[in-house]
Amino acid sequence: MEIPDFEHQRRFEPAIVPTAPVAPGWWFLFRGRDMLLARVDERRLRPLYGPADPRAGDAPAPHFLGYLDGVPCHAAEVTGDVPAAGEEIIERNLYRLHGRMDTDLFLLAGRAYQILEWDRNHRFCGRCGTPTEHAPDQRARICPRCGHTQFPRVTPAMMALVRRGRELLLARSPRYPEGFYSVLAGFAEPGETLEGCVRREVREEVGLEVRDIRYFGSQPWPFPHSLMVAFIADHAGGEIRVDGDEILDAGWYRPDALPDVPGEMSIAGQLIRWFVDTHR
Ligand SMILES: [Zn+2]
Repeated sequence: MEIPDFEHQRRFEPAIVPTAPVAPGWWFLFRGRDMLLARVDERRLRPLYGPADPRAGDAPAPHFLGYLDGVPCHAAEVTGDVPAAGEEIIERNLYRLHGRMDTDLFLLAGRAYQILEWDRNHRFCGRCGTPTEHAPDQRARICPRCGHTQFPRVTPAMMALVRRGRELLLARSPRYPEGFYSVLAGFAEPGETLEGCVRREVREEVGLEVRDIRYFGSQPWPFPHSLMVAFIADHAGGEIRVDGDEILDAGWYRPDALPDVPGEMSIAGQLIRWFVDTHR
């Protein structure tokens, strides 16, 4: 069986049900947070690929995700065995697959994980408690009693690189390993713009005011359902005063004297890379 070629830009078309005859496809299988994978080479991994559901027996129905360059993509939970089809199956936490998978397939793995997580968490109506059903024509679970509809949730989180001349602000959260610093981040609140969220988070976490907030880029962050939206902002006033709770330490850094920071797989790492490249 020919496995689709790896390193080229692909086009993904989402769908709820297959629109073409069943063909060999990608199977994004998860056992809890662990994805089931096969090897491409020593370093790279890929989803399982084949003409039929690789799971054994009476597994629950898979979710159809859509087509990646015409190749059908399925997501499903694994509770029992997956019979080995002549290749070694590796189970690995999705978080640790950054940089180990082709970019398009990694994004789809995040999509698959979020849809499975949503499906698992919305089996009952949040309003009246009745068991929900899948909508026939959209990705939603509907309550047959009261009609309440639940869609997969995406939670926006902002990230901000604050700069002061040729220095950038880096901060240490209690969740980070010793000596590790990153840019500021936080979740948007109901009724808040992303720019307002940037101003509030920076003020709350380090006591600074910012201006000239500019969009940088975004990255789906399926742990479990965030969308990271990254901004660049300029220091407008105030002295660093950490809250001691969400942030333990923060400071201004020059591009040639950075502490340990995130790698470029994450948008935080890409923001820092951008700053280093443009402020030498
Ligand atoms: Zn209901």
